[in-house]
Amino acid sequence: MTQITPQPGIMDIALYEGGQSHVEGVSDILKLSSNENPFGPSPKAKQAIADAVSEVHRYPNTDHAPLRQAIGEVHGLDPERIICGVGSDEILQFLCQAYAGPGDEVLHTEHGFAMYRILGLAVGATPVEVPERERVTDVDALLAACTENTKLVFIANPNNPTGTMIGGNEMARLADGIPEGAILVLDGAYAEFVDGYDGGVSLVDARDNVIMTRTFSKLYGLGGLRIGWGYGPRHIIDVLKRIRQPFNLSEIQMAAAIAAIKDRDYAARCLAENARMRVWLSEQLAALGIPSDTSLANFVLARFADTQEAKAVDAHLKSRGVIVRQVAGYGLPNCLRITVGDETGCQRVIDGIRSFQESRA
Ligand SMILES: *Cc1c(COP(=O)(O)O)cnc(C)c1O
Repeated sequence: MTQITPQPGIMDIALYEGGQSHVEGVSDILKLSSNENPFGPSPKAKQAIADAVSEVHRYPNTDHAPLRQAIGEVHGLDPERIICGVGSDEILQFLCQAYAGPGDEVLHTEHGFAMYRILGLAVGATPVEVPERERVTDVDALLAACTENTKLVFIANPNNPTGTMIGGNEMARLADGIPEGAILVLDGAYAEFVDGYDGGVSLVDARDNVIMTRTFSKLYGLGGLRIGWGYGPRHIIDVLKRIRQPFNLSEIQMAAAIAAIKDRDYAARCLAENARMRVWLSEQLAALGIPSDTSLANFVLARFADTQEAKAVDAHLKSRGVIVRQVAGYGLPNCLRITVGDETGCQRVIDGIRSFQESRA
């Protein structure tokens, strides 16, 4: 028997499963399983990547100043209160490392993003799952679940995989009500998709216990490059910076992110197209008798009659090369999460589901 054992909690982690991207024996794959931008990144970001290649023998800049500056300009934020990471997942990881450990509780909602549980367990903390109300974050339930051991409360707004969100007053009520010493983490991976939403900036600015995280993986089409950031009160950013590896981001990552965030025209076009096709997709689903909540993100959560039907539709779509996401692991076994693709992609989804229904008729 080996005496070598990992820290408590680690063996309780079930490996994160990414969205599938291949189907055995099927070509012409359409991947709609990871909420990626169907148009890819801005051409300017691709050019910036190519330009940065010649310098890869050099260590990257450690303070990310040009990237923080660019983010600050676009969002009207103080660059001193921004921290950049290897995806926003790394910012979430820093938060767990810095503020939670054995005996501490990390709250997430019933259908919340899988990484919250994984990252909590990784530091030996106890993840606590809190019920939602009809697939919407329930502030009262979260407040009721808080204890003196609560250290972090993770909310994705809009949430993945539900696509729903709660308003500013509800979020402020949550920030006000969590125990002293706990931090509210506003995961804004999909914040850009909500017209007029600041991702929680005003709440961060008004309090010392709220931090917001954002990503280049969704709207900006750079999921493969891994870049995210957080904006929070000085005292929290100061703590997170101390545990960040100095060279966590490469010059390629930073150059791509700067070019992407500065290309406002490209981002606006992607947003407009997403909004248009998201409505189309949910209306077409409804016409086929498949309900979905009004999504504020770049995916739609389609609800089927039962688990069996969701699985059968998923298999049928896969056989036609269309990959969507089963979300049984999120407590939604009768649902499929479908990323909003381009027009052709959305049409393929609807054609596939229609053909499934016809095969059953
Ligand atoms: C995609 C996603 C993220 C993180 O993405 P990164 O690629 O690590 O920036 C974070 N939260 C939610 C809810 C997501 O869906």
